[in-house]
Amino acid sequence: MSFKISCQGATSIKAFVDFLWNKLTPAVSATIQEKMIIKIAGDMQATCPAFNGNRANLEKHILISLAEEENFDKYCQYLHNTKSFFSSYIENHIKRYCSHKGSEKIKTFFKISLNSIKNAILSAIRESTAVAKDKSSTVSGWLDLFCDHLGNNLFFPRRDLISIEHQEIKDIEFLKEAMSSALDPAMKKVEQNCSSIPIEEMVPEIEKILSEHLCGCWKQCPLCNAICTNTIPTHEGDHSVPFHRPQAVNGWHKHKTDHFVIDCCTSSVASNRFIRFGDDQEIPYKNYREAGGDYATWSITPDSSTQTYWKWFVSHFRSKLEEKYQKKFTGTGKIPDAWAKITKQDVLDDLKNQ
Ligand SMILES: [Zn+2]
Ligand SMILES: [Zn+2]
Repeated sequence: MSFKISCQGATSIKAFVDFLWNKLTPAVSATIQEKMIIKIAGDMQATCPAFNGNRANLEKHILISLAEEENFDKYCQYLHNTKSFFSSYIENHIKRYCSHKGSEKIKTFFKISLNSIKNAILSAIRESTAVAKDKSSTVSGWLDLFCDHLGNNLFFPRRDLISIEHQEIKDIEFLKEAMSSALDPAMKKVEQNCSSIPIEEMVPEIEKILSEHLCGCWKQCPLCNAICTNTIPTHEGDHSVPFHRPQAVNGWHKHKTDHFVIDCCTSSVASNRFIRFGDDQEIPYKNYREAGGDYATWSITPDSSTQTYWKWFVSHFRSKLEEKYQKKFTGTGKIPDAWAKITKQDVLDDLKNQ
């Protein structure tokens, strides 16, 4: 008789433990995945120079890599589909990180995460058993304690366990043994689960974290397309950027001609020239805000300096720009000889020293 009872007890404990581990295993895999994403994003922020500052710093690295590649189509994406260009730049960096220098680190992150969850589960089993034995708790009480002990270590909802909480289990000590001995095989299963998930699946989540960290205003200067450097996406006050660009970068040309405007918008707003919209509307550059829309919300301060970078860009890609916008660098839009003398190395050095 007593043998039969203990057999029944063992069977029901085994069923209970199987059920619990069936719920725990996917939760452990998901938690590890979550932790890996945070760790990889954190490591990239700490070790990749493009990601360890604000968005203006990221943009500097983007401009460096654009100059290094000398790919005009990529420049066009950067200039005209700015936000998605930034996203794919970040995404490519994550993919590169995961396939090269980060791959060994990722294995280490995985081992650390797996071990820490394993230890958390083991101590939750031990501690909840010790307390439950003291209070001669029910199974439901043990489950409460177990979930409490897991706490933030595992995203695991207690409500998933309602169906087993009324099971009759008298031998809590035996439950502890059964749970503990199922731990290693369960962790092996988690290891298999996680290693079968391609790293690519984590890329969008990592990108999200990095992008949130590098957020900012995406408004672009209506005259030269430079991106506002305010770090708050919907900030108060005017949009602004420390460096504007020659307006030809954005396709501006002189009224009734096909001559590019090579002046930087900061010198245009200091001039006595006019912005013309269509044939009948003209506004002095000095009063550019009167044009309304984006013009009204930008602070463009008069200044005659232009970054070497964009002088080099205009000169280097002159024929590509002419082809793209169907305008010419001629007349008032003639590219100064000095611009043609700027080398790629000059602009790279210039940016790297910023
Ligand atoms: Zn501008
Ligand atoms: Zn802004």
